[in-house]
Amino acid sequence: MHIYTAPVVVPIAGDPIRDGAVGVDDGRIAYVGPAAEAPEADDTTAFAGVLTPGLVNAHTHLCYTGFADMHDNEKEFFEWIQEFPRRNPQTTDDEWRCAVQDGIDQSLAHGVTAVADVVTPQAAFGPLLESDLAGVAYWEACFIDEDAWEERRKSWREVVTDTRAVNGSDLAVGISPHTLYSLGTGVAKGLAELARTLDIRLHPHLAETTHEDMFVRRGSGPFAFMNRRIGLDLELASGGAGHSPAQQMAKVGWLGTDSHVAHGVHLDAEDRALLREHDTHVVLCARSNARLEAGEAPVAAHRKEGNPVAVGTDSRASSPDLDIAAEWPVLRKMALGQGDDGDGLNEWLVRAATEGGAAALGRTDIGAIKVGGRADLAVFEVDTDANPYAALVSEGAGNCKATVVKGRLIEH
Ligand SMILES: [Zn+2]
Repeated sequence: MHIYTAPVVVPIAGDPIRDGAVGVDDGRIAYVGPAAEAPEADDTTAFAGVLTPGLVNAHTHLCYTGFADMHDNEKEFFEWIQEFPRRNPQTTDDEWRCAVQDGIDQSLAHGVTAVADVVTPQAAFGPLLESDLAGVAYWEACFIDEDAWEERRKSWREVVTDTRAVNGSDLAVGISPHTLYSLGTGVAKGLAELARTLDIRLHPHLAETTHEDMFVRRGSGPFAFMNRRIGLDLELASGGAGHSPAQQMAKVGWLGTDSHVAHGVHLDAEDRALLREHDTHVVLCARSNARLEAGEAPVAAHRKEGNPVAVGTDSRASSPDLDIAAEWPVLRKMALGQGDDGDGLNEWLVRAATEGGAAALGRTDIGAIKVGGRADLAVFEVDTDANPYAALVSEGAGNCKATVVKGRLIEH
């Protein structure tokens, strides 16, 4: 057994432990508690900071790690999203694989040991499934109408089944139906049915922009224009669904305990209640939303009403980095600005990025330090005398000094 000690251990599975220790044996947690009571170890590593579970990035696209210039180029959402169909066909499989590997390395450097990763090119599966990350790699369906689906359904489905057949990793294969404005209604329902037939998870984008809301409700706005231009013929383009994107998601079968949704910026009280009814986690991606001027997610309302949430960075094409800890102060500021009283807010945010992310991915063995769980840890060089949740939220960004992934130590 290898023992890691730290002035403060934040297990999430229990209260913070001063002068704590975590024992790791064969990639699993074998002990968590006071250092003074730890079992005898073959080796001990003494960390100086706050020790937490490995963080969960519950929404990202690691294949776009090479598109970081899109974060900096200030294009607005509508122009920004059309860059992908232009760039993707020009990117080689080697470039995709390098980008994903870079994204994996950057994630681990920030203490992220589990991801909900949206996979667009098939080549991106390779490095993901060879990595030590936990979570789900979601094969994406995007820009597909009924006619295109007829042709593509079989080969699209084969990618899922073939990848699952060879997958020996700790990342499951899932399905990411991109959005309601990029898929036909029948296609959307078909994808949900397929996920349930195969017993795999779903992860769509929900209510990221007001334009999405406009398209789903009325079939109008920039996305209607974009789809006409690229020849995508969607049912919603004729008059819309007459209700919110969240309600439409419930109709096509994209909500449930086997799904979690990215963004959820434009959700009213009824939408939030619907998500609670379906026990569906929303991934807050505050910095990506700010970059794309998508709006502010109702963070304070989610907390007050008890919606299950997780934290994501989104891709490097809209996020300055893949540092989940850097989302915390931004979300805190947003919540306070929206009227949150701040009581317990830091702990809520740290839990969202750990056990919240784990639950969003359907995992019970990650996101908390508990005996039998995967040995995923992160060490943050923050004030160890302060309240540990407050210290992590205010100083954690850029301060991860070590990561343990599946029992393997990486020092930064
Ligand atoms: Zn996304």
